[in-house]
Amino acid sequence: MSSTLNQKLLYDVYEALVFLVETDFDISVEDGFEGNSYWIPTPEEEIDEVDCFGIIEIDVDIPIIQKIYTLSHETGHAIYDMQTKKTLKPSVMQYEKAAWIIGYQYFLSKKYALDEKEYWDLAERCLGLYEHAIRSQE
Ligand SMILES: [Zn+2]
Repeated sequence: MSSTLNQKLLYDVYEALVFLVETDFDISVEDGFEGNSYWIPTPEEEIDEVDCFGIIEIDVDIPIIQKIYTLSHETGHAIYDMQTKKTLKPSVMQYEKAAWIIGYQYFLSKKYALDEKEYWDLAERCLGLYEHAIRSQE
């Protein structure tokens, strides 16, 4: 699917993907109002009490197609944290790249093929911003 689909359909797809992620992984997807999207894992010592592995916040102000791609990326972080983190410790950039790929693969396995070109364009843009932010901290 890509940005060429009509908006109503994209909203339906987004809702379906949110439902999929929430039921598959016991995480909560919520609207974000801080101009950013992110994955907040529940601290390990609190998982028993909270009964949810974490929260994905998706920026309310971005276009619906970007919400879909961003949800894929944040889901990639969630899957990585839940399944891979303990065995492989990545750098920030490796963690960011991996999340784009893992999220894409996950939705593909559920028969949702995101537009490769648009997806990587957004991924490259976000990775570029990260790289820039890291460099300016050095
Ligand atoms: Zn990320």
